[in-house]
Amino acid sequence: MKTVQDYIRTIPDFPHEGILFRDVTTLFADPEGFRMAVDQLAQPFAGQGIDKVVGLEARGFILGGAVARQIGAGFVPVRKAGKLPGAVIAQDYTLEYGATTVELHEDAFQPGETILLVDDLLATGGTAEAGIRLVERLGGRIVGCAFVVDLPDLGGNARLRALGFDVRALCA
Ligand code: IMP
Repeated sequence: MKTVQDYIRTIPDFPHEGILFRDVTTLFADPEGFRMAVDQLAQPFAGQGIDKVVGLEARGFILGGAVARQIGAGFVPVRKAGKLPGAVIAQDYTLEYGATTVELHEDAFQPGETILLVDDLLATGGTAEAGIRLVERLGGRIVGCAFVVDLPDLGGNARLRALGFDVRALCA
């Protein structure tokens, strides 16, 4: 029986030399693999009355939309700066080289709504933490952060747990 991990390939030297890139497009492309990943991401959070799934651009949209449908929640995108058409709040964060900005529609949800954050991969945790900060600035209550891949050596898992979040991942 195949596991989610079996559908993910690793591509060396992308996007830079020395990086081993986890490519989840092969997971998404396989009907059984994709179904398994969505089921496993959704399972711990089903039946909890979660209001919204927040997905991080771009692979978090593919997973987050499917998870939202499965648990009966709405879907809200966190996008790179300049992509959302309505009024937004913005959050800067640092990458390995330089800084970037992500945005959230300021009316994406009401204060007190319960939120599940979804992305494909957790590395340093910088991207997830920027999404968390946006959600919290709007008064959302994050009940969990779910990823397909966790790279614990890069510190993101410990970072999010230290902030008090329930972090779930399907494989390392
Ligand atoms: P972090 O902010 O360092 O945790 O990096 C996580 C973000 O970068 C996520 O939005 C991922 O989609 C992306 N990312 C980093 N490394 C990889 C990888 O090896 N495969 C796919 N996405 C990655």
